[in-house]
Amino acid sequence: MKTTDLSTINLNMSDDDKKRPLVFYGAGNWAKAHFSLVDAGGAGIVCDTNIAPVCFADKDERKHNTVFCGYKVYSVKEALTHYPNALVVLTCGFEILTSVVQYLSEIVSPELLRYPYETYYGMGCQHLGTNFTTLGDNLVCCSGKGFINPNITMFAPWDEIFLEHKNFCEAVIKKLITGDLNACSGCPELNKGFHVVKPELHYFGLGSNFRGTNCNYLCPKCSHLCLNESKNNKYDQIVASEFIKYFWDNHKRLGIKINYSRFVVSIAIGEPTLLPDFKNFLDFINSKEEIAPLLLSNASIYSEPWAETLQNNVKSEMLVDISAGTVETYKKIKGVVCFDKVLDNLVRYKSMSINPDYCIRLKYTFYDGINDNFDDVNGFLKIAKKLKCRVEFSTDVFGDKKITNTIRELFMYMENELKREKIQSNPNVCYARAFDRAEE
Ligand code: SF4
Ligand code: SF4
Repeated sequence: MKTTDLSTINLNMSDDDKKRPLVFYGAGNWAKAHFSLVDAGGAGIVCDTNIAPVCFADKDERKHNTVFCGYKVYSVKEALTHYPNALVVLTCGFEILTSVVQYLSEIVSPELLRYPYETYYGMGCQHLGTNFTTLGDNLVCCSGKGFINPNITMFAPWDEIFLEHKNFCEAVIKKLITGDLNACSGCPELNKGFHVVKPELHYFGLGSNFRGTNCNYLCPKCSHLCLNESKNNKYDQIVASEFIKYFWDNHKRLGIKINYSRFVVSIAIGEPTLLPDFKNFLDFINSKEEIAPLLLSNASIYSEPWAETLQNNVKSEMLVDISAGTVETYKKIKGVVCFDKVLDNLVRYKSMSINPDYCIRLKYTFYDGINDNFDDVNGFLKIAKKLKCRVEFSTDVFGDKKITNTIRELFMYMENELKREKIQSNPNVCYARAFDRAEE
């Protein structure tokens, strides 16, 4: 197969480029959100790059010869037959940029490819600058734990928190471009490819820094040590619903760009349904159609406000880590006898949802010597099949540590079984590479 050295491809758009006919590759939500494409009928209303397409192209054959936002959609080859002088502008998310370029460079001349944001080719990470997550006193960009912003705490004025996060990430990206040592150095999530110089935020995670954070579990493996601190009312001045509202109302003034086609606000750590302002939080999120709510819950409590959200908000989703397939192992991992109740609640939530195939993601975190056995794995698979929900795998291994061969084999077994059942599964993004590194 023909391969292209991606480092030789220049994706950045010059002013002259913008005068040429432009074929937009990717007729989907990203294009719609970034180019304000309502049925423009060829008028082309465009983001800050001030460009407009002559047509769209897409890989998906079902879209060929349809009309998208007023523009005809072709295969990329056909689009270039109609417009031989055109450049192909990639209208896709940053996180898939490298794979899209790789795919297209085997079909069209790589000199024709462009991206409407400034890019660099080199080491980078899809989480960097796209994630804002609060954890205890700190801001982290990811659950990578390697990336804690040392310059700011949650007790700073809120404008400073948001700006510091943005500036810090931009400074790290500059160092990645020049190859200097930086806060992400050594992280296994760094990968070579195309990355944007100024990424947009698409994940806003609220952790355990908020008034009333609590949990009804006492998992021996709970990694959220900050939970105990927050029980001392250390964060009493910060109310989760006010924090996200302030961010939403002020992000434009602060110059923070958001990916409106995919903006997830997650609430996690502790049992969020116990937060005193949980309902206010959901009311605010549900009033913004751009926001997709993600609840990280142990699902031991059936929350009416969350059930209503599932019923009315097509983008709502919950991630529930059960990490077991038997009552005994669940008790070992979670410290409580509550497995059956959790499963009942999941069935109830699913029956309420307007988007039942999407609303639940079930998580299995592998722990060495605890749940790395066929009893639990098969029990978990049975639950996933019954719920017909998506599945996420994870491990408590991070950095350059390796998972055991037993875990790797069970992970592959689970993946195959789920594939056979046509159930979507994926490793947790922050731990994906851990599954590539098994012990000898
Ligand atoms: S996952 Fe690693 S490379 Fe990516 S932002 Fe976090 S610390 Fe940096
Ligand atoms: S449910 Fe989550 S937050 Fe609560 S103790 Fe367990 S791991 Fe920690």
